[in-house]
Amino acid sequence: MTILYVDLDGFKQVNDSLGYAVGDELLVLAGQRIRVCLRQGDFVARLGGDEFVVVCQNGSDSAGTPGIADRIGSQLGAPFPIGEHHAVVSASIGMATTADSTATSEDLLRQADLAMYHAKVRGKARTAVFDESMQLVVDTKFSVRNALGRAINQQELRVLYQPVVSLADERVIGAEALVRWERPGFGLLPPDGFIPIAEASSLISAVDCWVLQEACRRSAQWCEQGATIAVNLSARTLEHDDVVNALSEALRQTGISPQHLTLEVTETALLSGNGTANRNLGRMRDLGVKLSIDDFGTGYSSLSHLQRTDIDVLKIDQSFVSLMDVDASSATIVSAIIAMGHALGMTLIAEGVERPSQATLLREQGCDAAQGWLFGRPLVASDFDEVFGEFAVRKPSAG
Ligand code: C2E
Ligand code: MG
Ligand code: MG
Repeated sequence: MTILYVDLDGFKQVNDSLGYAVGDELLVLAGQRIRVCLRQGDFVARLGGDEFVVVCQNGSDSAGTPGIADRIGSQLGAPFPIGEHHAVVSASIGMATTADSTATSEDLLRQADLAMYHAKVRGKARTAVFDESMQLVVDTKFSVRNALGRAINQQELRVLYQPVVSLADERVIGAEALVRWERPGFGLLPPDGFIPIAEASSLISAVDCWVLQEACRRSAQWCEQGATIAVNLSARTLEHDDVVNALSEALRQTGISPQHLTLEVTETALLSGNGTANRNLGRMRDLGVKLSIDDFGTGYSSLSHLQRTDIDVLKIDQSFVSLMDVDASSATIVSAIIAMGHALGMTLIAEGVERPSQATLLREQGCDAAQGWLFGRPLVASDFDEVFGEFAVRKPSAG
């Protein structure tokens, strides 16, 4: 037996741009087009969404089945005339064949699904045949995604707080909230190990909303003493209205005054943001929170966009900061960013400051604040309590 797992690429865009009625019609036509590719004894079922499964009963016919996958691929790749529209999608197909008698049909379905995922990752509009080597890579992604789905309810996410210091006097003026996942059996995972996977699904919005609320809850006291807390939001999170509700709810429950909260988004998120994302960003700005551009200088630094959007803070990416004391051109870029940001009325924060020589240069160039190993690693809240407590004690004499 061979199973083909067929997933339409670009179906969501059809739904979003041409409407659900066109999307529904496309699914019906796609089912019909798949059916004409089949041989006697084969059958197709729709699993849900834009996913179909084809079951070829005729043994592990390795000669015939790739032909079916090719035919299905080209059938689904041709435009679908629907009303006055021409909807275009393609198909990512995963294929698994019973190599031995021990594989159950459930195993086959899972393997075909993994192969389909592989086809998607390799660039869509293609067929991938399951083999054991792809199991490992894809399996981890799948298991991460599934386990992450439960992590929030099971209280496995943590927030660390990295101090942000004023360069003029090295006082701690706030913190950036950075998520970690305490995954049973895996230890404390950094964001790189799961944020990209969360971003590839809608999980990211739940993660970001949770971090936002947890950071507000834990930092209310620091904010009362003058600290500013920064929270990261992914591009996809901005597309969900949930984030606006999470923010207003967090502000209401904690009583934090909104100007003590900064939302960090990347340039790419600002630029790629669709109408909903921009509207949500606007609604959050209306609540009074600040907006910060993270990793500035590495994305599509659209200067016209900087001018249009109401941005309070620029965070200079650590790739420039880490070289600025050894490479003249990096130093020049940093000073140009500082000059431009200041001219536009923004606050400048340098990221990834590790050496005193970098701090000295940044101070000379007039940068406002900094963050990095030199001043403090991301800390659990109780440790940040201490670091910040020292500042709060010193504050009266310092200012
Ligand atoms: P980011 O927002 O640019 O955060 C700064 C990153 O640089 C943090 O990595 C921090 O630990 C690291 N860092 C700080 N100082 C230094 C230094 O002196 N040297 C070096 N080499 N690194 C330094 P982390 O915590 O691993 O986070 C990585 C990225 O993950 C963040 O980059 C942010 O883009 C993302 N992230 C973290 N938390 C969240 C979250 O709650 N939601 C979303 N959507 N993304 C998050
Ligand atoms: Mg950040
Ligand atoms: Mg950054």
